[in-house]
Amino acid sequence: MTDITIPAELLPSDGRFGSGPSKVRHTQIEHLVANAAILGTSHRQAPVKDLVARVQGHLHELFRLPDGYEVVLGNGGSTAFWDVAAASLARNKSAHLSFGEFGQKCVAAHTTPWLSEPHVVKSEPGTRGTLEAIGDADVYAWPHNETSTGVSAPVTRVQGAASDALMMVDATSAAGGIDFDANEMDVYYFAPQKNFASDGGLWFALMSPRAIARAEEIAATDRYIPEFLSLKTAIDNSRLHQTLNTPALSTLLLMEAQLEWMMERGGLTAASAHTAHSSGLLYAWAEARSDVTPFVAKPEHRSPVVATLDLDDTIDATAVTSILRANGIVDTEPYRKLGRNQIRVATFVGVDHADVEKLIASLDYVLERL
Ligand SMILES: *Cc1c(COP(=O)(O)O)cnc(C)c1O
Repeated sequence: MTDITIPAELLPSDGRFGSGPSKVRHTQIEHLVANAAILGTSHRQAPVKDLVARVQGHLHELFRLPDGYEVVLGNGGSTAFWDVAAASLARNKSAHLSFGEFGQKCVAAHTTPWLSEPHVVKSEPGTRGTLEAIGDADVYAWPHNETSTGVSAPVTRVQGAASDALMMVDATSAAGGIDFDANEMDVYYFAPQKNFASDGGLWFALMSPRAIARAEEIAATDRYIPEFLSLKTAIDNSRLHQTLNTPALSTLLLMEAQLEWMMERGGLTAASAHTAHSSGLLYAWAEARSDVTPFVAKPEHRSPVVATLDLDDTIDATAVTSILRANGIVDTEPYRKLGRNQIRVATFVGVDHADVEKLIASLDYVLERL
């Protein structure tokens, strides 16, 4: 029944549209091969420390970090960083904007015996609310891009927040694909398997001097902090271009190649324009079709890096994504827990405009035949 063969001329040259892990470009693999001699060598020696230092330097430059900001890294991906933040950054109480699965996981991580119950502004999937100052919050947390729903939120300081409160942004799927002003945040954290087209497993946190001071302040209290969740330990190691325990070297090499490629193409401004164009093609296509609708009603909330498109009830989205998969176009399924009749397409910086156009042509072809 769902045996549809999409003509070769309509197929994208690369069929990876997943929201993480995401498409790894061929030149990244070439960089990995060219630097293969580093693999299998000690992360305590100069070649790997130099690699870490280069990645840190590139991130500093890409994100135009103000003086005094530092690039800190550790193992465990963004999920580990939520626990790092709860253990090492929150003083007494956090406030959150929660508009999907990832934002809510950050809330869950801050629901601990040593912190007051988090303040949460929650909204329905596909929408987002506004985070306002509350007197006793010392951390404000929100995702720059909610990957589970395709809603993005601006990176701007919460007006009226305590002068030493930290602005902490989950940038896992936004980092490198959406422009923002680094002065507006204190902690901008992500893992590299989305716009950076690398493998998962590491976390990076771009930290302001105020955030570094907070990590030092908490480390000096009598709070019990497991070594793996100690941000102070991670900061100390990162200053030496190391991690507490062994990092994945191939992940760092893939990331280095992506960072250099992004900088050659014009940095964050160009990356942001690229993703806006790609996602714009999909939103315009959905608006032009009567049987497809952008899930996010407000255009200003729509993500430039993860487009979520609802299909009419008469079309089975699972059939569509299965047919695409059988034709080599993979990972367009919606976020599993969202439970909608939807397709989700990542338009990260490494995805070519021409391939988004081909994906649209393939979708038209399939929808006409279902
Ligand atoms: C993918 C993602 C995560 C989880 O990242 P892991 O490295 O798998 O822990 C967290 N937050 C957002 C917004 C994401 O997109």
